[in-house]
Amino acid sequence: MSANILIVEDEEKLARFVELELLHEGYKVSKCGNGRDAYEEAVRTQYDLILLDIMLPGLSGIEVLRRLMKERPTPVILLTARDAVMDKVAGLDAGAVDYVTKPFAIEELLARIRVALKLHPQSDGRIPSPEEDPDEVLRWGSLTLDVPRHRVMMSGHEISLTNREFLMLKTLLENQDIVLSRDTLLEKVCGYDYVGETNVVDVYIRYLRSKIDDVFGVKMIQTVRGVGYVIRTSEGEA
Ligand code: CA
Repeated sequence: MSANILIVEDEEKLARFVELELLHEGYKVSKCGNGRDAYEEAVRTQYDLILLDIMLPGLSGIEVLRRLMKERPTPVILLTARDAVMDKVAGLDAGAVDYVTKPFAIEELLARIRVALKLHPQSDGRIPSPEEDPDEVLRWGSLTLDVPRHRVMMSGHEISLTNREFLMLKTLLENQDIVLSRDTLLEKVCGYDYVGETNVVDVYIRYLRSKIDDVFGVKMIQTVRGVGYVIRTSEGEA
């Protein structure tokens, strides 16, 4: 399965040139010329790698990177202008795995792409398909959560979730009929070392309900007062 790469670059000629080279190498390629659109696209779709220009209309590359790392961490190679040392530092601090200085030789870019893909493999189609590995698909009623593909479907419609919403739903689906406390959910979704309010859990639950319950007319995630949240198998069959 070939890697899926997003090119974020507002210089159209350069974007087109890189696109053709990557297609020639056998990658799947998408393009975007605006920071805001790029951010939305990169949150919506899990890419194996993003080539991200820093000087962009809409939202700067650094800002796209910062937001993306919170929502949907993805390996990013920055495309920076020569001498823009601060951009490189800010970019690496914000979570970029590498940078390439413009103008670059395409061979150098391709080599760095190969390295980044090898060092930062993403879970995608290279992992067994759901037919081969049914354990990796969690179900509730007509909703399916495909773990390796990071995809949630209900009645034939894809539900677009952020990384944390996805983790929250996955945790609840893995523990159907078990009431999970806010602390447990927080740990699963934000990690052990998260310092902050447990009410972020309520915020993510609200997002999930607005994307699932409100849209499909179900009552998926139940609140158990004073305890936490649960998804009940029986509700899915109802
Ligand atoms: Ca630019």
